[in-house]
Amino acid sequence: MFDFTRISIWSLAIFPLLIVVLWLLFRHKQKNSKQQSNLSSDYFKGLNYLLNDEQGKALDVFVKLVETDWDTIDTHFALGKIYRKNGEMDKAIKIHQGLIGRPSLPEKYRSKILLELGFDYLGAGWFDRAEGLFKEVLIEDKQSKVARQNLILIYQQEKDWYKAIDIAVELYKVNASVKGPMIAQYYCELAEMARTKGDIKQLLNNTEKALSYDSNCVRASILLAEQSQREGKYRAAINYFAGIENQDVESMTLIMDAMLICYTQLSALNEFYTYLLALEQRHEKLFLQTVITDVLEQIKGKSSAVQYLSIKLRQQPSLEGMQKLLSYKFTDINTQTLCDDMKGALGSMQKERMAFRCRQCGFNTNTHYWLCPSCSHWGKIKPLLGDTCKMSNI
Ligand SMILES: [Zn+2]
Repeated sequence: MFDFTRISIWSLAIFPLLIVVLWLLFRHKQKNSKQQSNLSSDYFKGLNYLLNDEQGKALDVFVKLVETDWDTIDTHFALGKIYRKNGEMDKAIKIHQGLIGRPSLPEKYRSKILLELGFDYLGAGWFDRAEGLFKEVLIEDKQSKVARQNLILIYQQEKDWYKAIDIAVELYKVNASVKGPMIAQYYCELAEMARTKGDIKQLLNNTEKALSYDSNCVRASILLAEQSQREGKYRAAINYFAGIENQDVESMTLIMDAMLICYTQLSALNEFYTYLLALEQRHEKLFLQTVITDVLEQIKGKSSAVQYLSIKLRQQPSLEGMQKLLSYKFTDINTQTLCDDMKGALGSMQKERMAFRCRQCGFNTNTHYWLCPSCSHWGKIKPLLGDTCKMSNI
């Protein structure tokens, strides 16, 4: 009989196991009526050990069961997954190692067990062992996408971009739209490494490769623009930056400061102002108010800048714009007008601010990352646009 006094203590942790084991038992009973009674009693014996937190004994029972009938292997996979989910990698590893070591293991289950063991090692942070297992899976099952995807995760973690590219290129053949942008990011990583070493040839070579896998790779355009900027080729840099409008218009706000520097170096701020107004007209939600204010101040003076910002803040409230308006506080403009502007804008803003958000998982951040720290997708973190920047998840 079950020791029900333990259930209250263990109910939270053990309940999912109970459901899984009972469900698998039910399914198995339907599949195999001959061995029904023996299996039932062994299953309940194993279950009782689980409920009493005697995992070692429970595993012994389940391993014996699987040797009698390998169709019960799903129980092991289910238990392994639950242990892994609970962070109990040692127990998950024990289950899968127990299976892989059985002499009677049918060949058809081998790859699946190796994969599960690989997940356990990944969870435990043993990347070397996980890598070895996923490679072994690929030897047995050359088509295994799961093994490839996990190898990519390992290489990403280890920043081994060449190996990550090798594997991702194989997956690119079957899913270019997803893997292309990923491979482009790997080449951008290599380009950044080349830049650090001062190897300009490799920097250009890698950005070119990035764009060949993803013509909309904003990061590659930025790398090219910044290199031109460093070489004093400001017109070329501006062209690269301006090209981002066609790649991903939201990312334009990332490069406004750099564009301002380039146009300033060329003494062409009037041209920049005309460009910005046209850009704003083409994309009315794009957040350009602070850079337009900066440019206006330089070419037409503070009062023009304040006048533009006061009107703009009513249409597109923002913290950055408010801070800029505050910086004009000690100018000779009418203080009452300034206060009214601030109150109006603050009322509209309420818990809103300029930030970045991952388009994939919704992760919010004040720092821009190319790789989302939350969902590990590349190039999905984008600047939030002025009037849509609720910070509900921060
Ligand atoms: Zn994300």
